[in-house]
Amino acid sequence: MRGRQLTDRPSAARSSGRSVDATGPGSPAVEFSSLRRGSRALLRDLNVSLLIELVRSSGPISRADLARQSGLSAPTVSTIVGELVERGIVIEGATAPANGGRPPVLLNLDPTAGFVIGIKLRGDGLTTVVCDLNARVVATAEASVSLVGDPAAAVVAIEQETRRALRDAAVPRSKVLGVGIGLSGVIDSARGVCKFSHLLQWRDAELAAPLRRRLRLPIWVDNDMNTLAVAEKWAGDALAARDFVTLSVGRGIGLGIVIDRSLYRGATGAAGEFGHMMVEPGGPKCECGRFGCLEALVGEDALRRRVGERHGRDVSRNELIALAAAGDSATLEVLDSAGRKLGLAVANMVTLLNPELLIICGEGTDLGDPFLAPVVTAVREQTFADLGRQVEVKVQGWGDEAWAVGAATLVLRESFSLPEPDDQGLAIWHRP
Ligand SMILES: [Zn+2]
Repeated sequence: MRGRQLTDRPSAARSSGRSVDATGPGSPAVEFSSLRRGSRALLRDLNVSLLIELVRSSGPISRADLARQSGLSAPTVSTIVGELVERGIVIEGATAPANGGRPPVLLNLDPTAGFVIGIKLRGDGLTTVVCDLNARVVATAEASVSLVGDPAAAVVAIEQETRRALRDAAVPRSKVLGVGIGLSGVIDSARGVCKFSHLLQWRDAELAAPLRRRLRLPIWVDNDMNTLAVAEKWAGDALAARDFVTLSVGRGIGLGIVIDRSLYRGATGAAGEFGHMMVEPGGPKCECGRFGCLEALVGEDALRRRVGERHGRDVSRNELIALAAAGDSATLEVLDSAGRKLGLAVANMVTLLNPELLIICGEGTDLGDPFLAPVVTAVREQTFADLGRQVEVKVQGWGDEAWAVGAATLVLRESFSLPEPDDQGLAIWHRP
């Protein structure tokens, strides 16, 4: 944990958006621990990141408003913006109405000033996207390759797909900020190591180090639920949210937890393994080897199996979705019962975390209301006090491409956010 101090961290300095102004008078009295070991150059980098992020999220914006929102002095803003304009990262656009004096020029981010690559790994292949600075997809590609039990194959495939995607998108390497990789499992994101993945059958698989050597680009690796939460915060529904969760339903069931605008990973990176909460000891066997996990009861495989039992035959994923849409009574019963079970767990999670926003996503959302309505009802009715009525619930269908975009936003976050000095750069939002 890099000499982390366990005490006396001023809570105000954590995941807050204040800037640190090395030059301006009346600098905000914010102490980042990095200042102790940091240099003027680092301080400048932090301010550059802060201004880029403010232009991105608040643009078009004037220099004066940038100074106000960032807490930086006008001369500091002017100097940094001047450089960003010269480098083509920030563009000067229209002028705003003036109050008497010279009308202020409004600034925008040039979304094509930089690009990021996002990769979502599955057992049977990977989805690769190239995104601009607004997380807009400019190229996407699918590759089929068996990755189960074979992290070396993943390293080779990621290298090939990254090179191919950059060629297809005609993006020069000089504009690439890095590669973000999302996968299911327990990830040590600081080291870029997959400590354990059921889905891929990997243990202590190194990804970042070999890929950095091969691609000579910055590499970030994270659990795919975490990358989704970052994507929501960067360009999605959670732009303004401080405390929210993304609940992925489908074959697996997982949570991305954002507390006080920071991703919560837990002590060893395993937070959010919601699907492996044991809800029925001695129940059906789960992929993780235990019995009675939530996922083993309400995950997509379990739903297919139960509907199949009712119909006396195997039911594919597409058939399950079609039966639900057609209102098949046996299917509706199975989905309703599973939805209630999942809903109770989600309601308890809401009671525990008190999020302001709950985003339900994942391929399981294809099952629609028959599965999701009882989940939302349970959240409304089975939480403590009125917490479940106050939480905003949004449902989003996410395809493989969206998961890859999530991985790409990991790079955007890491590239433009102020690093959290003793927090492994986990904060994902930095506005005052
Ligand atoms: Zn389990």
